[in-house]
Amino acid sequence: MPIIAGVDLGGTAVNYTLLDFEGRFLIDGLCEYPARSVEGPEVCLQQIEAGLAIAVRTAGVELSEVAVVGLDTPGPASATGVLSAKGSTNFVHPAWAGLDLPAALSAKLGRPVTYLNDGNAGALWGHVSIFGADKHKTSISAIVGTGLGGGVIVNDQVVKGRDGFGGELGHVLLPYHDLPGLEGATPRCNCGRIGDLESVCSLTAIRNLLLPHFLARHPGHELGALPVADAAKRVRGRAEAGDVMCREIFQVQARALGLFFDQMVNVFDPDALIVGGGAIEASAVFQRWFVAEIRAGMPAQRAEQADIPIHLMPNGDSAGARGAALDALTFARTSTFVS
Ligand SMILES: [Zn+2]
Repeated sequence: MPIIAGVDLGGTAVNYTLLDFEGRFLIDGLCEYPARSVEGPEVCLQQIEAGLAIAVRTAGVELSEVAVVGLDTPGPASATGVLSAKGSTNFVHPAWAGLDLPAALSAKLGRPVTYLNDGNAGALWGHVSIFGADKHKTSISAIVGTGLGGGVIVNDQVVKGRDGFGGELGHVLLPYHDLPGLEGATPRCNCGRIGDLESVCSLTAIRNLLLPHFLARHPGHELGALPVADAAKRVRGRAEAGDVMCREIFQVQARALGLFFDQMVNVFDPDALIVGGGAIEASAVFQRWFVAEIRAGMPAQRAEQADIPIHLMPNGDSAGARGAALDALTFARTSTFVS
């Protein structure tokens, strides 16, 4: 029976999933293998192949049954998966620059390989997990991690854009002066913009902006005694436990998402807004508070749009692999090479 493999290649780990042609996932949780991407593509492609062999064994199927592979990676890359010639954070070895990664993996594995960037793959999984077989739906996904990823799905199609930069939601500018407690702060993003979504809503934003800013307003706070990179990673846990300053930091992020989603509501009139990533990998109580703060950050909606739901991304840690597999399934169903 032919199956699809989803391969989510990150900086340090490869995450796998397997999908049958009926759209059923054959792996429930996380199936990870070391990526070794810092050692360059030759080593990393070998790692992908070795990890795939383990993944199929885990699921009790044969490698020969894998008909198509869906790949997703962090960018920057073209819409077809040619990595940026200028290099990137996750692919620092010089041999990655300008590599047609799907073509190289296809040659390695002897199978067709489809490609999405990781934000778009996660968004596709979020969309399909919510709407299933319902057609002609539109959703916006924002994934709050180290950066701010996500994607736009219009009428069930991933918006990749002209060069693959569609759905770069983190770099959409916001009226950040409206955010609570941010007076006097200048949110500067790595991309050079001031006040885009990623600059106020990401782990990087906590480290570079929000934690130093709020520590100055809460002198003597225990997180002030730690190196900022360590302290930043503790903010979510402290917020969940009710720490006032850490709640303020997460309130800023949630309200920023509210401003951003309001823009998306006005541009796309979507069927759903979806939020995912490490920021919401927390208790149900905290998740409900966070979503309520997102809603509170949205200016009043017109009556017809006030009920657009805000969903949490399910299976967050395997969302990329699952979306990549779904993309490959669409390719396989519309191709004639699989009998
Ligand atoms: Zn930016």
